[in-house]
Amino acid sequence: MSQNHPDRGRRRFLRTGLLGVAAVPLAGGLVTRRASAQDDMPRLSPDDPAAKALSYTHDASTATGNAAFQEGAHCANCQLFTGESGAEWGPCSAFPGKLVNAQGWCSAWVAKS
Ligand code: SF4
Repeated sequence: MSQNHPDRGRRRFLRTGLLGVAAVPLAGGLVTRRASAQDDMPRLSPDDPAAKALSYTHDASTATGNAAFQEGAHCANCQLFTGESGAEWGPCSAFPGKLVNAQGWCSAWVAKS
C-alpha cells in the first residue's frame, strides 16, 4: 500500500471532522456551566456589613454625596468588576462570592484600564 493512498486521507479527514463535531457540545457545556455558576451566586445586599463598609449601592447615582465618588463611576467601568460586558450583574473581586450591580458603586472603585 502506498503512503498517499486516498483512503488514508479520507480516514484522517473523517477522524478530524468527528473530533471537531464532538468538541462543539463540550465547549458549549463549559460556557453554560460557567454562566450557571455565576447565576447561582447571590447578589450583594447593600445591608451586608462588607458592603456597608465600602458604601456599596446598587445605583451609582445615589452615591453622588459620597466624597470618594467620581462622576461617571459605576461597577461596569471598575477594574474590580469581572462580569460580562453588558451584563446587569457580575462578580467583583472586592466582594468574593457575590454579584454586584453593573450600575452600582462602592468606595473601592478603580477606573478600568
Ligand atoms: S469595587 Fe468596583 S465593581 Fe466592586 S462594588 Fe466597588 S465599584 Fe463596583
